Amino acid sequence: MTRTLGSALLIAIIAITAGCGKNSGIGGSAGDAAPTTLTANAQFTQELKLDDPQDFEDAKRGFMARPEGKILGADGSVLVDFEAFKFVDGKVPDTVNPSLWRHAVLNAQAGLFMVTNGVYQLRGFDIANITLIEGKTGWIVVDTLTARESAAAAMAFARKHLGNKPVSAIVFTHSHADHFGGALGVATAQEVAERKIPVIASEGFMEEATSENILLGTAMARRSMYQFGKNLERSPKGLVDTGLGKNVAYGAIGILQPSQLITQPTQELTLDGVRFVFHNVPGAEAPAELTFSIPERKVYGGAENLAQTMHNLLPVRGAKARDALRWATYMQEALDQMADSEIYVGQHNWPIWGKARIAEFITKHRDVYKYTHDQTVRLANAGFTPREIADMVKLPKSLASYPGTRGYYGDLRHNVKAVYQLYLGVYDGNPANLNPLPPQESAKHYLELIGGADKAVLAAQTAFDKGDYRWTAELLNHAVFGAPDNKAAKELLARTYEQMGYMSEAATWRNSYLSAAAELREGPPKKGVDRSFLIDMLKETPTERFLEAMAAGLDGPAADGKDLKINMVLSDKKESYVLWIENAVLHFKKAAVATDANATLTLTKPIFIKMMAGTAGVKDTLLSDDLKVDGSTIDLVRFFTLIDKAPGTFAIVTK
Ligand SMILES: [Zn+2]
Repeated sequence: MTRTLGSALLIAIIAITAGCGKNSGIGGSAGDAAPTTLTANAQFTQELKLDDPQDFEDAKRGFMARPEGKILGADGSVLVDFEAFKFVDGKVPDTVNPSLWRHAVLNAQAGLFMVTNGVYQLRGFDIANITLIEGKTGWIVVDTLTARESAAAAMAFARKHLGNKPVSAIVFTHSHADHFGGALGVATAQEVAERKIPVIASEGFMEEATSENILLGTAMARRSMYQFGKNLERSPKGLVDTGLGKNVAYGAIGILQPSQLITQPTQELTLDGVRFVFHNVPGAEAPAELTFSIPERKVYGGAENLAQTMHNLLPVRGAKARDALRWATYMQEALDQMADSEIYVGQHNWPIWGKARIAEFITKHRDVYKYTHDQTVRLANAGFTPREIADMVKLPKSLASYPGTRGYYGDLRHNVKAVYQLYLGVYDGNPANLNPLPPQESAKHYLELIGGADKAVLAAQTAFDKGDYRWTAELLNHAVFGAPDNKAAKELLARTYEQMGYMSEAATWRNSYLSAAAELREGPPKKGVDRSFLIDMLKETPTERFLEAMAAGLDGPAADGKDLKINMVLSDKKESYVLWIENAVLHFKKAAVATDANATLTLTKPIFIKMMAGTAGVKDTLLSDDLKVDGSTIDLVRFFTLIDKAPGTFAIVTK
C-alpha cells in the first residue's frame, strides 16, 4: 500500500468512480442464456403484464426533442453517449430478465419533455432528471444532475428548444450527488451571488451533501462499480440499465450553497412567482431530502422517495441501512400532501398523470416498505435469520403485480436484510457465526474435505447443469478463494454469475453479477477513484471531515508506540488544528498552535484539499512555496507516512 498525505482521504460520491484498465486474466467471454435462465425469465413474462401500454405512454408523453451525440468530460472522456443504449428497444433478448428489459426500454426514452404547461423534464442526460418550472422571469431548476458537463448540456438543450431564459431559482431535492453535483453547470457561484438566485434545499443538505461519503468513499466507490456496472459493455449481455436511469455521468462535481433552507415539516415559498409547498422528509431515502407540490400547476414532486421502482433500503454498494418504517410514514403523509395534484414528477424515471393513479402509486410504495418492514420484524421475532427471512418474504399479489414498485433498483431480498440489519445488526444470533473463519481459510478447509478444487469444480458443473446457480456459486466461491490459481473454477463461477445476472430483475443485481463475471476473467480494475473531479465540492466540505478521514487512514500497527504532534494552520481560513497520535490513534482538535508540537504546517485550504484529494503529492507540496513548515520537516513526513492510501482497486470476487 502506498502512502501519501492526500491518501488519507477516502472520497467519492455514491456512484463516482474512475475509469479502470483491464488486467490479464483467464480469458473467456460472455455466454448465452442457459435453459434454466430461459425458463425463469419466461415466468416473468407469464406472471406480469409486461405489455401494459400505460407506462410507455407516460414515458413518451410530452416528448419534444431527443439529444444526439455525446457529452464529453474536460479530459475528452465520454460521459454520456446518447446512442449507446439504442439497442434497448423491441424484443427482449434471452440474456435479460423481461421485466428489467421493459424497465430499461422505458428508461431509454431520453430527451426534453413537456410535462404540463410550464413544467418540463430533461431525462437521459445523466442518471437523474432535471425538472424545469417556468417562473415569471426564468427557469426554476429542480436538481442539477451529477456533473457540470451533463447539467450544462441539458440546460443548453432546453434553451435551444424552449427559448433562452435565465435561471431564476435552483431547488436541490436531496443530498445525493446525482441531484446536486452538476450545479455549476446550471449557474456559477458568481452568477448566483450577482443575480441573487435563490438556492433552496432542506435543513442539513450542505453538511450531508459534502460529507456523507467522505469516510467510506473509497470502499463505496469500488463497490458501486458493481452496482452501476460501470465497466460493463453496453449490450444485451452487459449493461442495459441501472434501475434509476441509464448511467451516471462521471464528470466534474460541484455544489452551490443554499441561500434558503426548508426547516419546517411543511413550508411555503414563492420562487419567481410560483408558489411551492415544501415538505421535509429526512432520513428515509437520503439524510436530507424534501418533496414539494406546486398547487397552481397541480404538480407533486416526489424527489427520490418515490421513483418507478422499489428503492434500496440498503444499496448494494453499501451504506447505512435506511429506515423503512419512516419511509412508509412519509408515503402516508404524501397522500395528503399531494392534495389535488394531477401530475407526479420524480427526479428519476418518468411522470404519472391522474390523481387516482398518483394516489395508487404512493399507496403501493407505502405498503411495499411497510410490508417489507413488518414481515421482517415478525419473522425475526419468530427466530428466523436474515438469509431465511429473505427467502420467506414474498409480496402479496396486489403489490407484486404493480410495476411501479417492482425491484429494479432495490430488491426485496436485500431490503429484508436491511430491515434486520437496522434493528439487529449483521450478526444473526447463531454463535457459529460469532467467530467464523475468514473466507479464504474456511474455503481451504472445505476444499480439503471435498478432495481438492478440481473435484469441487466437477460437483459445481453438475449443479450448474441442473441450473442450481445459488449453490453452484457458493461452492465455486470456496474453490476460487481456496485455490486462487484454479482457472476452471474461475471460469465456471463467471459463467454461473452470468446466468444469475441474466435472470435478475434488479438492474443492480444484474450489474453486480455481470461485473463479478468480468472480473473473474479479467481481474480487478487497475485504477481506482479519481478524486480530482470532486474538487469543486470538496471546497465546501468542513475541514473536520477531512481530518476524520485522515485519522481513519492511520496505519494502527505502524503507529503503535509513535508519539507525534503536528499543528496545522489554514492561513486563509484563520483556522488552526492540533493533530496528535496517542495509543496508535490520530486525534485532532481545533485549537491554537501547541508549543510542544514536533512541527507546524501552514497552508491554505485549497492546497490542503488538493493534498487530501490526491491531486498534489505530499513531497511536491512540502517542497513548494504553497506551504510553510516550522519545526522538524522529518517529523512531519514521518507523521504523514503513517497514513494509508487505499487505491480503491481491491479484489471482490477473487483473493
Ligand atoms: Zn438519485
